[in-house]
Amino acid sequence: MPGILPNMLDSTSTILELLESGDATAKEVTETALRAIGATEPTHKSYTHVSYDAALQAAAKVDEDRKAGRPLPPLAGLPVAIKDVLCTSDMPTTCSSNMLRNFTPPYDATVVAKLKQAGAIVIGKTNMDEFAMGASTETSAMGVTRNPWDTDRTPGGSSGGAAAAVASGTVPLSIGTDTGGSIRQPAAFCGITGLKPTYGRCSRYGLVAFASSLDQAGPMGWAVSDVAIGLQAMAGYDPADSTSVDHEVPDYRAAITDPDMKGVRIGVLRSAVDQEGVTPAIRTAFAEAEKVYRDLGAEIVEIDLEHSPYWVPTYYVIAPCEASSNLSRFDGAHYGYRHEAGASGEAALENTQPLEAMYRSSRAAGFGSEVKRRIMVGTYALSEGYYDAYYNQALKVRRLIRGDYDAAFEKVDLILGPVTPSPAFRLGENIDDPISMYLCDLFTVGANLAGVPAISLPGGTNDDGLPVGVQLQAPVMQECKLLAAGAAFQSATSHHQQRPEGFVAT
Ligand code: GLN
Repeated sequence: MPGILPNMLDSTSTILELLESGDATAKEVTETALRAIGATEPTHKSYTHVSYDAALQAAAKVDEDRKAGRPLPPLAGLPVAIKDVLCTSDMPTTCSSNMLRNFTPPYDATVVAKLKQAGAIVIGKTNMDEFAMGASTETSAMGVTRNPWDTDRTPGGSSGGAAAAVASGTVPLSIGTDTGGSIRQPAAFCGITGLKPTYGRCSRYGLVAFASSLDQAGPMGWAVSDVAIGLQAMAGYDPADSTSVDHEVPDYRAAITDPDMKGVRIGVLRSAVDQEGVTPAIRTAFAEAEKVYRDLGAEIVEIDLEHSPYWVPTYYVIAPCEASSNLSRFDGAHYGYRHEAGASGEAALENTQPLEAMYRSSRAAGFGSEVKRRIMVGTYALSEGYYDAYYNQALKVRRLIRGDYDAAFEKVDLILGPVTPSPAFRLGENIDDPISMYLCDLFTVGANLAGVPAISLPGGTNDDGLPVGVQLQAPVMQECKLLAAGAAFQSATSHHQQRPEGFVAT
């Protein structure tokens, strides 16, 4: 469809308009997505699986229904990509781990089912850090994803593939998950918008659990308008997830039309950006965002989240503890990889019963080293004698962190801060240094520990043309406020319209 559809897919609402008006068929849109995948995958490697035939079939069905005048759901024909941690009954779900390399779940995650019901076409599954543990997508057992803005650099993680899939122009909308920053940090590194909803806003049923009290799925796209459309389809109560919240789903698209910032109180985390190690481009983006909001009529209030120095240590006790428990289900018997007798590692298991040996060698061979590190840290912190000193203590600090947010939200409507201490780093730069990798989460884990929604917005580029993000956080279930403020920012700036070199939009 030359002239109407670009070579790469960009805005969700534009694609939906083309589909609705009949200016493009679902087949043409899907073919564009698949062509863009063909053009960019050899370099970017955003996907672990692409569903060529099924996607084209689903598109043909949409076109047939439209032609016959049958009523169509709101996202009919929209191609989306799903992080490979969300269960899909018609495609493998690997969590980018050898443990689940050949695993296809018997059911769809609720958020996937909801997107399909809304008419979206799932084009494929996106690469990630193994079991969502990491900040660069380098711990994936399925290969390394490259940042479309600079292919020597990481797209971020753990939803690096989901971010790169959008920034490569293969889909206008992808779904990531965020346990400690895994939607927002890759969004910032790839110059797109990423939303971590309130804990409980979207069902976790079928989201392979990393840290159950922190995990949340959310939408990623170029602009706030894209993520609003995604959230609309994903949000809602699910009886299959006891932590999902039975709270009415508002009209997110309506919330972003004509956003008004007059009198909105925005708390700024100045002490965060002033910290050592925060690069100048991050400071500049933050200062500019503050000015944009001031000019839009918002009231800027200095705030401090007192226990923020404890966010990372608290997270890196709680998340591994929950992971060590959640990942015990991968034992060679229930799911995925089973290590066959006679293969490597047998010598160390000489005096072990066969079943025990099978568990041990399956886990030894199936998990990568970062996952093993988390399991060991978590098991240690939960063990007798250390439980109170580490896990229980971390839970107490988490309470204090939540209290800081409650107190802050008495004074302000939203909190503005950075997403990451620096723009995308080079592949290989941090992979052997877990502490520097964990410090990527400095500004993001607070929202997970408190359960509040947070959004990463494109905030410009540094001197090397690498994107940087700015972050807004809101009180629980205040996604409308968050999206409205994001939309107001994007109506006053053009950062979200910047594209990497080679992104052919015409
Ligand atoms: N980088 C963090 C970690 O490694 C966050 C991961 C996530 O949000 N899934 O745990």
